[in-house]
Amino acid sequence: MQNSEKIWRLVDARKDDYEALSDRVWGMPELCYGEYRSVAEHKAMLEQEGFRITENVAGIPTAVMGEAGDGGPVIAILGEYDALPGLSQVAGIAQPQEVERGGHGHGCGHNMLGSAALLAATAVKNYLAQAGIKGRVRYYGCPAEEGGAAKAFMVRAGCFEDVDIAITWHPSAINRVDDAQSLAGVRVDYTFRGRASHAAAAPHLGRSALDAVELMNVGVNYMREHMPSDARIHYALLDGGGVAPNVVQAFAKVRYSIRARELPGMKALIERVRKVAEGAALMTETRVEISTISGVSNLLGNTPLEQAMQRQLEHLGPPPFDAADLQYAAAIQATLSAEDIASAFARAGVAPRRDTPLCDFVVPYGTKGAPMMGSTDVGDVSWVVPTVQARVATHAIGTPGHSWQITAQGKSGQAKKGLVNAAKVMAGVAVDALGDPGLIARAKQDLKARTDVTPYDCPIPPDVNPPLQPRP
Ligand SMILES: [Zn+2]
Repeated sequence: MQNSEKIWRLVDARKDDYEALSDRVWGMPELCYGEYRSVAEHKAMLEQEGFRITENVAGIPTAVMGEAGDGGPVIAILGEYDALPGLSQVAGIAQPQEVERGGHGHGCGHNMLGSAALLAATAVKNYLAQAGIKGRVRYYGCPAEEGGAAKAFMVRAGCFEDVDIAITWHPSAINRVDDAQSLAGVRVDYTFRGRASHAAAAPHLGRSALDAVELMNVGVNYMREHMPSDARIHYALLDGGGVAPNVVQAFAKVRYSIRARELPGMKALIERVRKVAEGAALMTETRVEISTISGVSNLLGNTPLEQAMQRQLEHLGPPPFDAADLQYAAAIQATLSAEDIASAFARAGVAPRRDTPLCDFVVPYGTKGAPMMGSTDVGDVSWVVPTVQARVATHAIGTPGHSWQITAQGKSGQAKKGLVNAAKVMAGVAVDALGDPGLIARAKQDLKARTDVTPYDCPIPPDVNPPLQPRP
């Protein structure tokens, strides 16, 4: 804690380059395992800063790792840079307007996520060099957080085996330690094969794969009443079997996302969905092939690291938003419903306020809000390494996740101030851990206690590999 000001100055000294990095990555939105330009930007920064670089981490061409320092504990700082489809949006305005029709966009703020993590790692590297102490800092540039579960594949490949603690953050509307409530989740494809025929002349000879998909969806929708209320199932039709209604569809494919509060509950749910799929195939006399695409585990908290992060957040205070930031955030809030704004406060567990569009407080440690219903591949890291995650305000309170409003605010003043605050908080925790071996020991003990009864069981089957994309 006493070294916080020192490490924060090191963050400030390098922040301009990382704000620019965040803006550049914002301007080249790339999807799931296709982040070739974004990872090249991150690699170039690692080179410029003098990190030792490992490319092709876990055999993934868009993953990169940079290490600095020697001996001592290994502190990992995790970054991301993938975008989302269909969220192309002009920056700095408060109405929907695409940059490119149907284009991608940074609708989850991962341009900031990666830049702040790399800025934190750089500051820690410089701190280690100045202080002349033993210890290593690593920046893990992790692709494909949105649906690709890259970190789970990286965990499975052993990339974190010698890491002592891992630190990360996510852009948010609120300043707080993440309450480690994400859902375990998998994506599974169900491919049905039937028999084509003339839909009018010989319908009795056809067996419709599309019918099977529809019946499967109906079956799963009936199942919802009888599954845990905090589980989630969603589906998307990947292939409806063609565009001709007069041909019985011989092929159809549906992708399911199945989520539950914890790994064992998720596995039970996958099994029930499998039975529904097989039932649909039986009813339609089609065949079904089931293949898992990706999977992530639920997040595990870590009390000692969370308390260290809370001290950093409180000591540092909220990002220093200015009048222009507040004005833009208010314009964004005008595009939201009262319900959007109220639910942001409910998730944080604090009473709703209408006097500021940007978060000017830090949520007290241990505040219980409405649980987060999303999933993240940080979950898998948290099962094998003590992990802590900050949420730092970068956008107007109430801004929905995965929205044009997040893309719009991705290069704003609030984004940059949040990015720098996040880097300071993460670097501060790293320096705390480097200066206090007891903190790392307590963090490891905490993880051991959480995983003693149910050890880590990778949700991705051993024969499934990441769906890598070719270099464009
Ligand atoms: Zn995200």
